[in-house]
Amino acid sequence: MNTKDPFTHNPPFPRQFASDVLTIDHGEGVYLFDIAGNRYLDFGAGIAVNALGYGNEEIARVAYEQMKKLVHISNLFTTEPAVELAMKLTATGNFEAVHLGSSGTEANEAALKYARLYAHRRRGPGHAKLLCFENAFHGRTLGALSVTPNAHYQEPFQPLLEGVTVLPFNDAKALERNLSSEFAGVIVEVIQGEGGLRVMTEAFARALNEACARYDVILIADEVQTGLARTGYPYASSMVGLTPDIITLAKPLGGGLPLSATLIPAKVNQLIRTGEHGTTFGGGPVTTAVASRILDRVLDPAVLAEVRRKAALLDEGLARLAARYPFVTELRGAGMLRGIAVDEKRAGTTAELIAKAREAGLILLRSGVDVLRIAPPLVISGEELKAGLALLEQVFAKI
Ligand code: PLP
Repeated sequence: MNTKDPFTHNPPFPRQFASDVLTIDHGEGVYLFDIAGNRYLDFGAGIAVNALGYGNEEIARVAYEQMKKLVHISNLFTTEPAVELAMKLTATGNFEAVHLGSSGTEANEAALKYARLYAHRRRGPGHAKLLCFENAFHGRTLGALSVTPNAHYQEPFQPLLEGVTVLPFNDAKALERNLSSEFAGVIVEVIQGEGGLRVMTEAFARALNEACARYDVILIADEVQTGLARTGYPYASSMVGLTPDIITLAKPLGGGLPLSATLIPAKVNQLIRTGEHGTTFGGGPVTTAVASRILDRVLDPAVLAEVRRKAALLDEGLARLAARYPFVTELRGAGMLRGIAVDEKRAGTTAELIAKAREAGLILLRSGVDVLRIAPPLVISGEELKAGLALLEQVFAKI
């Protein structure tokens, strides 16, 4: 028996992180291995990042070959991988350009700035308000944090941006009452990835499309967690009929390397002047070369159909668990981004459940307070999905 402690205790990271952290050594396929050699089936994918799982030789080769040629050059120049990726991304919708950055929050920051720039240039000052929704999560930098109405994240950093309105999610009437031409942008997730996995209704998507068009307000879909096949669609927006002006992407885009994208339409791009926004690392040749391959894989219609097929398996398995265990109060999410809301009084806290799952060899995530989140690598097989659900059932059966 291996007696090595797989946890690192009190690593010299800021106290915002946990003090006892499982220390991962490597991954293979959809499995992770800690430094003590324990194996885990991964239902978390590095928080919805590792779409192709671990140890992908092709992706490693692309990164290695590009690193030998050129790692960084700045945006005083461009490179063929960056241009190729930008062309592939803009071709996914009604987009003229893409701003490449390094994280989800940075993609949203750019989107909010572009929305304000558009309103300012089209309509002048006085149209800079931003609208977001309860339980949204858009990032940790000050702009994105200002539209992330979670007291725990916001409180110590006040004051944040002025002019932010927060409305209930999926409430078309509240939207009708509050949106006006004073707003520059509306930012919204199709599935609230960090805030409990509620899914946008088609009626709300329609209301957002119509209201934003009426006031010429920029509609931003934050698809950092839902984009690029996570729901079985290239974008979750198309799943519910949302037609955003701007889409933001990050998590799976760089295959685990830091890369984000802010996709913008011609009407916005045409108003931007040289030097008004930028970044040092965004869109480097290594991250974009990798992202090009990731896009080829995850946007392949056969792969998308396969994700939908596996999502149906997941549906069935989760419905069975919900029927058997009354502490499961609701199933949420869509595609391969699913939530199991639990009654913590009966089931124990989600933190405890996640620890028990880990002891059983399964990595799970949390979303909101009382929701277990499942976001496996998209390449997981049907058999591996069933194995994960069986491990989850083992945990539930002991409650
Ligand atoms: N937007 C959404 C929907 C997210 O889920 C996240 C991260 O969880 C972010 C933005 C922020 O991304 P990052 O952590 O890369 O800044």
